[in-house]
Amino acid sequence: MSDIAGNILSLKSQLPAHVTLIAVSKGRSLPEILDAHNAGQEDFGENRVQELSDKRSALPDTIRWHLIGHLQTNKVKYAAPFVFMIHSVDSLKLLRVIDGEALKNSRIIRCLLQLHIAREETKFGFSMDEVRIMMESGEIESMHNIQLNGIMGMATFTDDEAVVRGEFRYLRECFSEIRTRYQKGNPDCNVISAGMSGEYNIAIEEGSSMVRIGTGIFGERNK
Ligand SMILES: *Cc1c(COP(=O)(O)O)cnc(C)c1O
Repeated sequence: MSDIAGNILSLKSQLPAHVTLIAVSKGRSLPEILDAHNAGQEDFGENRVQELSDKRSALPDTIRWHLIGHLQTNKVKYAAPFVFMIHSVDSLKLLRVIDGEALKNSRIIRCLLQLHIAREETKFGFSMDEVRIMMESGEIESMHNIQLNGIMGMATFTDDEAVVRGEFRYLRECFSEIRTRYQKGNPDCNVISAGMSGEYNIAIEEGSSMVRIGTGIFGERNK
């Protein structure tokens, strides 16, 4: 068995049943992705639309493609025909564009709101106040071609476990508030996408239901 297949199987046996594994395949070759797919992995994540659509056209359509990186509004149209879930929705404007492009494709696109939880300035995402304003406007309810499935967050890149844990815990509190105050009638709002190779166990302990793992499956990325 290849290392990649072995990593997939061992992760799947470790993860609790309610946690979905996203194999992050950015920068990986088609044979590497096929290797993971042949080991039973169906969900793959990419952070660039161009790479996503190139790989999608070259690989089996049994793969579910997740977009996990920052998305510009002018790129939405390239992903809209096939993307399974967009984890990185970070503005109302982007959500409107996704809704419009999904309609053109007669699709409903699953979306997660990305929340800014890290200390770093550079990470994209809504603040919880911005989410509240958007939710209170009621506009999401009028978007019929998106399905709001939950939220996504990225923790600060640090070895300080307490910082990372605190950020994931805050993400879960935000999720609870969104669900109970704004999405009560939406049973599909049930995803917290959080945790990467270095900290997925902490994320799961703090309530993550979807982990995004790259190096833990495919090895270190080449520079
Ligand atoms: C690259 C990436 C990951 C995976 O990171 P690893 O450390 O390789 O597991 C997860 N989420 C996002 C948004 C990424 O860009």
